[in-house]
Amino acid sequence: MNCQKAFDRYLSLDKYEHVPLSVTVHLLFCPVCRTSVRRLTLAEKVLAAPLAPAQADVLPQSADPVVQAASCPHFFVGHRLGSA
Ligand SMILES: [Zn+2]
Repeated sequence: MNCQKAFDRYLSLDKYEHVPLSVTVHLLFCPVCRTSVRRLTLAEKVLAAPLAPAQADVLPQSADPVVQAASCPHFFVGHRLGSA
């Protein structure tokens, strides 16, 4: 089995589906495909992780005081929408 065929077969599998013996043997002896599968697994894990909240020091600062107040994470604490 060549790399293209083995990798296509691997990609055609559903999640947690049993990997066919021929593909397993190919991955065992082919470092290129084995590395690709590891990278795919890692990418899937990273994509499934929750996003980190934005850091305040990363966001650009605005000169507008209304925008500054709205971007403060404590601005809405204790305030209800619609209350004056
Ligand atoms: Zn290969």
